[in-house]
Amino acid sequence: MVYLVGAGPGDPGLLTLRGLECLQQADLVLYDGLANPQLLQHTRATAERTARVGGPGQRHLEQSEINQRLIAAAREGKTVVRLKGGDPFIFGRGSEEAVALAEAGVPFEVVPGITAATGAAVYSGISLTHRDHASAVALITGHEDPTKPESALAYDQLARFPGTLVFYMGLHRIEQITSSLIEAGRPATESAAVVCQATTPRQQVVTGNLSTIAGIAHAAKLRPPSLLIVGECVRLRDQASWVERRPLHGLRIGITRPAGQAEETLRRARQLGAEPIVMPTIAVAPLTDWSDVDRFLDTLSTTVDTSPTKPYAWLVFTSVNGVDGLLGRLWDRGLDGRAIAGSRLAAIGPATAERLAHWHLKADLVPNEYRAEALAAALEPHVVSQRVLWVKASRGRDVLPQQLRAAGADLDELPVYQNIDATEFSPQVIELLKSGHLDWIGLSSPSGARSLARLLPAEARTHLGQSLRLAAISPVTAEAASEAGLPVSATATEYTWDGLFDAIAAAR
Ligand code: SAH
Repeated sequence: MVYLVGAGPGDPGLLTLRGLECLQQADLVLYDGLANPQLLQHTRATAERTARVGGPGQRHLEQSEINQRLIAAAREGKTVVRLKGGDPFIFGRGSEEAVALAEAGVPFEVVPGITAATGAAVYSGISLTHRDHASAVALITGHEDPTKPESALAYDQLARFPGTLVFYMGLHRIEQITSSLIEAGRPATESAAVVCQATTPRQQVVTGNLSTIAGIAHAAKLRPPSLLIVGECVRLRDQASWVERRPLHGLRIGITRPAGQAEETLRRARQLGAEPIVMPTIAVAPLTDWSDVDRFLDTLSTTVDTSPTKPYAWLVFTSVNGVDGLLGRLWDRGLDGRAIAGSRLAAIGPATAERLAHWHLKADLVPNEYRAEALAAALEPHVVSQRVLWVKASRGRDVLPQQLRAAGADLDELPVYQNIDATEFSPQVIELLKSGHLDWIGLSSPSGARSLARLLPAEARTHLGQSLRLAAISPVTAEAASEAGLPVSATATEYTWDGLFDAIAAAR
């Protein structure tokens, strides 16, 4: 089975639910150069990029080779997704692939996508139709088949078209297209826009009129892919634009959270308009020795009557990993939440409390401020002469135990996961750091800040405080960064990643 799936114009959120289902079922994904590779996170399939234009290090693939590949893989019994930028049937040669599949007797389904024209228009605040200005839209390809005689486009007819014109085109064609339209009688003063890298965090929009837009686009040094929109509806853009108003619009932000735990943060960053870059400074690993945890779990399974010691009055969780570490082991040992029914639960912040809820447990206490000092202060009145268990990482700050012991708690510490420094960044991240193309890095723990100081390439240090700035999740993290020689330009007042993003938005 082959699914020809429209990937949308760039924003990975602009995939249809049907497209997502297909990716989830696929054994093989062949994606073209315009489909966002981030979409591959939805599939476990082997993925191969097909490029019809062979760039450096890429193999040039003829359309017929792609067709053959689809047919051969389907005949091997594979579920194949052919993922194509935008909509497969709009200038995407999807119909040629469909015909080849039909002729070969291979079953296929086509999943529409959001085409570049609507993606670009909506993300730049341009309504392609408008009750007062445009009752029709034409989608036109400016990439002409090189084998056709010059200027196969009927400019005289396009000039008379009663509505908005959208050209899918390479920037090198803009001069010829606009001058041909003017020559054919389209008014030189008609509004026009070029949108490039539409719907991605790097989207750029320039506007002018038919006679000026080519010069404006060249001066702005736009990068492909790009679209030309011609029509009076372009003038209304200022009122309807929304992308540029997002608080983190256009910022490339390094997210230092451990891989696999950054999903929610990445989603949030994108929603706020940023381009998040995953660059873990800390890795989370399971314990190599579980004996202490198992000993604790053993005491839980003996009944309270026969237990030599009374149970813990409080279990204190200071991270999502701590929750998963303990509860995961509990489940692996055949127990569930009832095993800790005798203890009350404290969580350092909303994410940790939410993780408890994931295990169907409710936090009895979450401090107003999400830091160890505040958690300890909130617990103090409840822990005098009580047994308290701190469920923690293999390393961390000792503020909490000191403060609780001083308050009279009988405190035990139980490491349930390892917190280790990342040893290197990926080559892509190193390249972004060196070239100064990363705008911010978010730091969410003191150990993460110290780890960044070790991992940062020397070239990147020259950008620090200028094109590259650091934001800390809390004053404690900011202090650790400063001590490690890293200047911090923004510190969150609410100690969460949301708070960190607010701080960046305020400081940008
Ligand atoms: N099937 C695709 C179009 C493929 S033709 C679709 O429906 O969108 C390739 C052309 O589409 C590019 O040269 C460019 O003109 C346009 N295009 C694709 N993605 C774009 C994007 N994100 N921003 C601007 N133009 C884009």
